Amino acid sequence: MKIRLSVFIVAILITTGCSHIGLKSGPDQSNTGKTESLYNKFIEGNSPNIAQLNLFFSQMPKGGDIHHHYSGSIYAENYLDWVEAADCRIDKNTLKIVKAADVKDSTCCLSVKQLRSDLELYSKLLTIWSDKDYRNHYHQQLPPDLNFFSTFSYFGPISKNHKEGLMILKDQAIGENVSYIETMISSVGYSYQDNSFDENAKKATSPEAVVRLLDELTLKIKADDKFLKKINDFIGEIESAHRGIDDDRFMMRYQVYASRNATPSAVFSSLYAAFLADDKFNLLVGVNLVGPENGLVALADYNLHMQMISYLRDKFPNVNVALHAGELTLGMVPPKDLKFHISQAIHIARVQRIGHGVDLPYEEGALELLQKIKEKSVVEINLTSNEFILGVKDNEHPYLIYSAYDIPLVISTDDSGVSRNNLSGEYVLLAKRYKPGYKTVKKYVFNSIKHSFLSQNEKVLLTNSLDARFAKFEAEMARYYDLLQE
Ligand SMILES: [Zn+2]
Repeated sequence: MKIRLSVFIVAILITTGCSHIGLKSGPDQSNTGKTESLYNKFIEGNSPNIAQLNLFFSQMPKGGDIHHHYSGSIYAENYLDWVEAADCRIDKNTLKIVKAADVKDSTCCLSVKQLRSDLELYSKLLTIWSDKDYRNHYHQQLPPDLNFFSTFSYFGPISKNHKEGLMILKDQAIGENVSYIETMISSVGYSYQDNSFDENAKKATSPEAVVRLLDELTLKIKADDKFLKKINDFIGEIESAHRGIDDDRFMMRYQVYASRNATPSAVFSSLYAAFLADDKFNLLVGVNLVGPENGLVALADYNLHMQMISYLRDKFPNVNVALHAGELTLGMVPPKDLKFHISQAIHIARVQRIGHGVDLPYEEGALELLQKIKEKSVVEINLTSNEFILGVKDNEHPYLIYSAYDIPLVISTDDSGVSRNNLSGEYVLLAKRYKPGYKTVKKYVFNSIKHSFLSQNEKVLLTNSLDARFAKFEAEMARYYDLLQE
């Protein structure tokens, strides 16, 4: 009887196949096959196993994070360390940084040490300097997009400590198996104001007229003594901050940006400086426009900005451009503003990568546009950012359209310090919501190197490194798979 019972138990184990978490022995028993089975198990059903997905994606090599803002990616806790090191104070009422020498009334301001001992105020500061706790408890709230963009005015004054900031970002990246970051570091810091250009550019009735005006403005900028000096100073600063960043585990490159909510001459001069700096210095690999795309100026001048980028692309054919485009949704702006941003970024500015691309479903000729994006561009998907700033999530997000149309996609963080996420978290969210197959997830990871603005040789280097990292990861996950079956 004893023997018969054991045979019966063995028979049950064989027929049910697996363990308490219910893994089935699939036909593919390779490390990749077992990793895929594990992943499929974690995402199945209406309630995917988030704890297991957190473990899975924290370990998984993630290649590059290529839609990444330098100052928005550093956590408020780090910024407070810098405030302390600079011996600055925090105004108790505004929660802004105040230089110690500017403190008139000592009762109005706190040192960081004092702030940290006032738990209520410290917690409040974290909610103002980032998106922390926006959803899970009530406090005096700005609209989400304003809350997000206003965080930069709090930590902005202390954020220029590039050397230390880059090291923090590198450590965070290595800690979650990210091997490359392409960060939007800053503008060159050059601006040229020309009121007559601003008036005429708005009245220009043809692309040719805009080009003539841009030619004239270019001559004025070139004649400005400050122009080249600012560019050379900026390059020197990045070169110095970058020392010690690249090694055999990690690489960082930089996009230079212009703010889109400034006068036309200021936007163009800043863009021109960005293109020229990028053309001169190999660590600078791309140009972008930043700032709220729903800002009054950004909306009013969008077409003009696309013509400026087109003009500069002709002058600097080797400079790459990624662009925040279509970071808008219905209800946020009037419907007319949802019709053309991605389209003009592709057709006029000829950008290589689209940042966000959320307004796609509302764009005029969306189906033809999808085909064009597929042929000419790549979309950078930022799920957490889109959910917070735009309120676009789950089955409203055009990820569903882009993936169905097989558009090249990359998964990125945008501003992980403000959003308090990381790249692993973005993959968890992707897997939980949309359940892409493991092969598709891997494709996104390799896309982040393939569609980065690295040189061809650097891409080969990082792709080989990714292959080796995946082999190691899948061997570990195969062991985990076996353990869960015991
Ligand atoms: Zn962004």
